Amino acid sequence: MGGDEFCVVIETLDRPEYAAILTDELIQILAEAFRLENGIDVHIGASAGIAIFPEHGTSPELLIQHADAALYRAKNEGKNTYRYYTDDLTARSQHRINMEAKLRFAINHGELRVFYQPQVQIATGRIIGAEALVRWLHPSEGMIFPDAFIPLAEESGLINFIGEFVLRETCRQGKQWLDAGHHLTLAVNLSSYQFQYQNIQQLVESALAQSHYPANRLELEITESALMQREEASVVLLHALRAMGVRLAIDDFGTGYSSLSYLKRFPLDVLKIDKSFIDEVTFNKDDVAIVKTIIAMAKALNFSVLAEGVERIDQLDFLREQGCDLYQGYYKSRPVSADVFEKLLRE
Ligand code: C2E
Ligand code: MG
Ligand code: MG
Repeated sequence: MGGDEFCVVIETLDRPEYAAILTDELIQILAEAFRLENGIDVHIGASAGIAIFPEHGTSPELLIQHADAALYRAKNEGKNTYRYYTDDLTARSQHRINMEAKLRFAINHGELRVFYQPQVQIATGRIIGAEALVRWLHPSEGMIFPDAFIPLAEESGLINFIGEFVLRETCRQGKQWLDAGHHLTLAVNLSSYQFQYQNIQQLVESALAQSHYPANRLELEITESALMQREEASVVLLHALRAMGVRLAIDDFGTGYSSLSYLKRFPLDVLKIDKSFIDEVTFNKDDVAIVKTIIAMAKALNFSVLAEGVERIDQLDFLREQGCDLYQGYYKSRPVSADVFEKLLRE
């Protein structure tokens, strides 16, 4: 742009915060020392101003002018940094970059834990399994729930490490419980991002082999939308997993794509009815109809059916009347640590 000023144009940007991530990388790369031919090390720095189309301007002139205003502030406020044209975007992107660094640290320093929420057979009241749910035990902020970090983990690719950790830890714990005489089915969530970027089949094979946990005691939970995003690849993968003996469940059933044709195409074992249908199932006639229909359909197709988010006895009574097989919910227990879960098993 003149003198020591350059302009970078990013043509596709899914989210405005991503510009800061790229900018941050550029600034870090430029911050490395250069060695000149005469052996002298030279340090340079860079500051950046970011303007987003169309929020910060709809013409090239306006965008450059606003990026320039942001650059001016970046230089004033400390060099080797960046600013967006608007402060809220700067704050948001800094929060994001911070969180990502904290999460990376958490993964590498053992701050993640697997909690277990019982899955109960409605006819007998027995705990027959559990869903593994990740928790972040932050040393100063306390327990952080997945909704606060899974989306970030997915966008940054860290979900692959988290997914692998949860799977391996669950298999290890499952084997330990099995050896102690508890014959449970343990369910692990798979993110659609893992579908896209991870060799799930290889990962599952490796986790099972390493832990000696039997495949038919492992269940993988997948959402409808994850399946539909990559339908053809999913059919192949799910059949491969099924051939290994792993059980497959559809999570949050009823909230994703309403296409039901996949129920025939995929080798599934369990439908998990989403909590949103269960909340008012005893007094909202639409939910009554939906839940009855899902249970009937699951029976006809030979799937087990599990109700998610059961908090009250009236919900449980309704589900029992309708012939629902399993439930999960605060009525039995919240997700708990492995130690507490063992106590539940002994009760
Ligand atoms: P999900 O797989 O549908 O898990 C069920 C969520 O519902 C859990 O929230 C659980 O604590 C909550 N829940 C269960 N029963 C009740 C109830 O009676 N009342 C209420 N209000 N809530 C109930 P959690 O543990 O916060 O997890 C939220 C979501 O984060 C999960 O939804 C899942 O999509 C995702 N998640 C959790 N762990 C993992 C993981 O290891 N990998 C991936 N990819 N996603 C995960
Ligand atoms: Mg789940
Ligand atoms: Mg669910």
